[in-house]
Amino acid sequence: MLIVMDKDATAPQIEAVVAKIEALGFVAQPIPGGERVAIGILRNPGPVDPALFVDMAGVNQAIPVSRPYKLVSREMKREDTIIQLPGIKLGRGHFVVMAGPCAVESESQALTIAEKVKAAGARVFRGGAYKPRTSPYSYQGLGEEGLKILKKVRDETGLLIITEATDHDTLELVAEYTDIIQIGARNMQNFTLLRRAGQSGKPVLLKRGMSATLEEWLMAAEYIMAEGNLQVILCERGVRAIGEHARNLLDLATIPVVHRESHLPIVVDPSHAAGRRDLVPPLARAAVAAGCDALLIEVHHDPTSALSDGLQSLYPDQFTALMKEIQGLRPGGWY
Ligand code: PEP
Ligand code: MN
Repeated sequence: MLIVMDKDATAPQIEAVVAKIEALGFVAQPIPGGERVAIGILRNPGPVDPALFVDMAGVNQAIPVSRPYKLVSREMKREDTIIQLPGIKLGRGHFVVMAGPCAVESESQALTIAEKVKAAGARVFRGGAYKPRTSPYSYQGLGEEGLKILKKVRDETGLLIITEATDHDTLELVAEYTDIIQIGARNMQNFTLLRRAGQSGKPVLLKRGMSATLEEWLMAAEYIMAEGNLQVILCERGVRAIGEHARNLLDLATIPVVHRESHLPIVVDPSHAAGRRDLVPPLARAAVAAGCDALLIEVHHDPTSALSDGLQSLYPDQFTALMKEIQGLRPGGWY
């Protein structure tokens, strides 16, 4: 249930609605909107009677929410969510490109790539300090040293940082260093980690699980939002499919469907979908044309020596060319 207040509802009227929700034993989640305040009712085991609220002073409407994901759903919030990052916005109308290596390998590697992606127009630098690798013998990342390198990249280039938190032990440390916490595909249903990310107060990029349905993915986002963190970015990175021609199947239909079902922005990661660099530009172009809100792309200045995901990392020149190509493709223009 969503309680929509009148445009001129007073603070005591809003507080009275919150108090009534809490007195019923439920949780009230105020949802900031453009013109009016709305208050979501959460943790109600069954339907809530709208009659309990419609006669209260300052209440405009009580709308039942039919979707299992509440805070994530467009029923609960009609306007698109715009993520406020330091100095930039991300969300419909504010297109952002995040780029960098799969993993931070050294300070010189990170700074070299950061300068290149910045020159091409990226605003956020990606790079894993903690890497979730299929094999325990593969490169696992530099850990805290990698986070310190990311901080240096931030200080020297002004790029914002996105990096992955892979477990509970390191989430808080990651949150201290990063502008956006990435939750990887392998952790999409690690519900306690999602709650912790929700409590961090930092924007969270939630990747779609390797074989997750749209509903499972949106329910995972709900875990983060249910902790009061409304700054969630969804990331489509492809799902398991038959065939060896690409690492994963990029599910472009999720872009319009997420925009219909949810107010949250959707980012596309063509690199992990492709698995090979020649497929990254066409998939990125398709995602932009389909209306994604941002791209997350792996770039490496020397991909043949990369310690992780070299095959799918673009050379800086390819990334620069791609940045030019996508400019004309955005529905509604380039921002
Ligand atoms: C990554 O971004 O490097 C990564 C490991 O991605 P995913 O979780 O999508 O596999
Ligand atoms: Mn990677």
